[in-house]
Amino acid sequence: FTVDLSEMINQVIERFEMINKDKNIAFYKEVPSYPVYVDMDKDRIYQVFDNVLSNAVKYSPDGGEISVQMFTRADAVDVEISDQGVGIPKESQHRIFDRFYRVDKARARNLGGTGLGLAIAKEFIHAHGGKIAADSEWKKGTTILITLPYSVINKAEAGS
Ligand code: ATP
Ligand code: MG
Repeated sequence: FTVDLSEMINQVIERFEMINKDKNIAFYKEVPSYPVYVDMDKDRIYQVFDNVLSNAVKYSPDGGEISVQMFTRADAVDVEISDQGVGIPKESQHRIFDRFYRVDKARARNLGGTGLGLAIAKEFIHAHGGKIAADSEWKKGTTILITLPYSVINKAEAGS
């Protein structure tokens, strides 16, 4: 199915702004003002952004900043979600997409969850021919980059 990813990202951020009011997180977004149609399973991709954003909130301090940027390229769209939270030590970064892996078991127990969120996200993104990667610095913050393939529908060409 063809889904407008710009609209989806706006919706998911709006939802997080609403449910995290008490944590005083500032959300910054840079999303194209035009529709970006991507062929995808809407529910699954929504779940991916929901997961990644809930991690960003969960591992951020009160009053932290979370930014979501979406860029289109000729044959792909990138969505970057950055937080200024606890970060992930370099040696653990390659493992966070593994099932049940959690960086700090004691902390993870307090925060709840199962350690499956990113494993599921990776599975869904790969099933859509995309990529997901993490770039993080311990105690500074984390960026998750999601790339999905898409093709520009040239309206002028289609209409001629
Ligand atoms: P679940 O998603 O099942 O509720 P979870 O959030 O612990 O549990 P994942 O989403 O798979 O599991 O993330 C795996 C681990 O990666 C987390 O336990 C956490 O240690 C680390 N992690 C993920 N995102 C971030 C982030 N934005 N900042 C810091 N650490 C993170
Ligand atoms: Mg999670």
